[in-house]
Parts: sequence; C-alpha cells; structure tokens
Amino acid sequence: MRAFTYQRVDSIDAALAAGSGSETKFLAGGTNLLDLMKGDVERPAKLVDITRLPLMQVSETPEGNVRIGAMVRNSDAANHPLVRRRFPLLSQALLAGASPQLRNMATTGGNLLQRTRCYYFYDTAFPACNKRNPGSGCAAKDGPNRIHAIFGASEQCVAVHPSDMAVALAALEAIVEVRGAQGTRRIALRDFHRLPGDTPQRDTNLEPGELIVAVELPASSARFADRSKYLKIRDRASYAFALVSVAAALEMSGNTIRDARLALGGVAHKPWRLERAERLLVGRRLDAATLNAALAAAIEGAQPLAGNAFKVKLVQGALSEALQVASGTA
Ligand code: SF4
Repeated sequence: MRAFTYQRVDSIDAALAAGSGSETKFLAGGTNLLDLMKGDVERPAKLVDITRLPLMQVSETPEGNVRIGAMVRNSDAANHPLVRRRFPLLSQALLAGASPQLRNMATTGGNLLQRTRCYYFYDTAFPACNKRNPGSGCAAKDGPNRIHAIFGASEQCVAVHPSDMAVALAALEAIVEVRGAQGTRRIALRDFHRLPGDTPQRDTNLEPGELIVAVELPASSARFADRSKYLKIRDRASYAFALVSVAAALEMSGNTIRDARLALGGVAHKPWRLERAERLLVGRRLDAATLNAALAAAIEGAQPLAGNAFKVKLVQGALSEALQVASGTA
C-alpha cells in the first residue's frame, strides 16, 4: 500500500478545500476504498475523512421530495420511515446489498461510488485492465467473464456496476446533488454513471474534487410505492453481487398499468433503464402478450460475451417475475 496523508474535516467547505488535489480521495464508510487501497488498486496520496460532515439526515423537502444525505448509512436509509413508506423499492434494494455489517458502515454517497467487482480489476497480478491501468487491455474480454456486461460495453471494458441501490434509484428517477469549486450541480441518477467507452477508468460524471452531498427522490415517484419489486439473482442467497437484478415500479389503475419504470443491475457499467419495455406496458393489462412484448424489448441490443449468454435469459426470467409480483398477477 502506498503511504498517504490523512485529514479529517468538519464542514463541506473544508472538505472541498482539502479534497481538491488530483491524488486525493474522500473517505466515508471505507467499505470499498480501503479494500482497494490494501490491494494497491487505489493509490491515493491523501485521504480526506468526511465522516463528520453534517450529511446524515433523511428529510422531506418543501416540495415533498425525500432527501437522503450522502453520509446516511445504507441500513439507516433502508429502515427510515419516509423511505420505507414512500419508496419501498429503495429499501428492498438496499437490504439486498452486502451484509448487515457492511450496510451499517457503507454510506449513500459511497454506495454510488463503489467500483466494479471485476476480478481482473482487483487482482494486480493481471496486467491487462484498462480501468486500473488505462491502455493495458482488458483481461475479461477473453478470460472468464460470466459476471460481466451484456449491454453497453466497449472494446476497452466489459465491467458492470455493482450497486443495488443505484438500480432502484434509476427506476425512481432520483437526483444526485454534488458540490464542487464551481458550486452545486444536480445530476439525474441515470446520467451520473458512465458507460465505459474509451475511458473506462472514469466510472461517473463527477468532476475532480466534487463531493456528493445528497440523493433526492422526487415526490412524483412515490406513486409507485404500492406496486414495486426489487428482485436480485445471485450465486448465493446473501452477501453476493447481482448476476442480474430488476427494479420494477408500476402505477396501476385496477388491472391496467398507468405508468412503469424498469431498470436492470448486473448487466452494464451503469444501471440499465428499459424505456422501450416501459412504454409497451403503459395502458395495458399484464397479460401474456404484453408481458412477452416487454420481455422481448428488454433484451434488445444485448451483446453477451463467451461466458455470460445465460444472462439474457436470466434478464427475461427475473423481469417476468418482478413484473408479475409488482402488478399483483403473480
Ligand atoms: Fe478491467 Fe474493465 Fe476489463 Fe475488468 S472488464 S479487466 S475492469 S477493463
């Protein structure tokens, strides 16, 4: 591990001032960053400890949105009454992630910034990883790659984003609020993470030195509260990352779907929204024809690798199950 300096800060302004260096990382729960540092994958020269920042509240805004501070622990967010009552999809997703011990440490901001669990990224014995070492190649493309992407990958990188929380936030059309030297920016969750393209070393659209301060759930997305389901398919029953996950949120009028939001996890470098499938559901009952049309749309553009063609069928199976549970037709 590279030697680093450590600074604890008590205000957002102090964090921004201390975190402006190019080799500086903010330290929150540390559940991913410290592992990466021990493995010599992340090599910051300086850590800025932000655990004392006043960003630990879940609150309701005057517009009725629910605002989750960046330092709110995953377990606290999942169990907060505002989240449980109005956005149960997010509670389900959070509780599907990691283990109770990790959820007690991991924060809202850190969850969004966790890095891929691609084996080659973590193992520095593999020299070829464009995310860890730009220009070195991608060992996953021709090696074992069953956990990797089937959507939106590039020649440079086929990794997936590991967060469950982000998948639910994508379906609920959350906003990420960030602060930097230039002021405050509000970024739609769907635009927060990036596809790998030619710059797989960049996971998000955060600028250097910017700090996540909150995630906001729009009041309008609470209309999905009664009809939502987060379904995660993984190799073990707990403490495993998704091979495929589905966030399904429906607004129903009787048996008719008035509106739908669908997102997938475990299949791309960012939460993968299924907008065409959503449109095919609106104004219809979830009969066999409608379900099959949505399932066909969900896998349009899939480009599986040698080791993960099974994910295409898994997407359809998981989406079918999630839609039937959410709509009450299961
Ligand atoms: Fe690295 Fe991405 Fe290839 Fe994994 S998939 S080895 S993270 S470049």
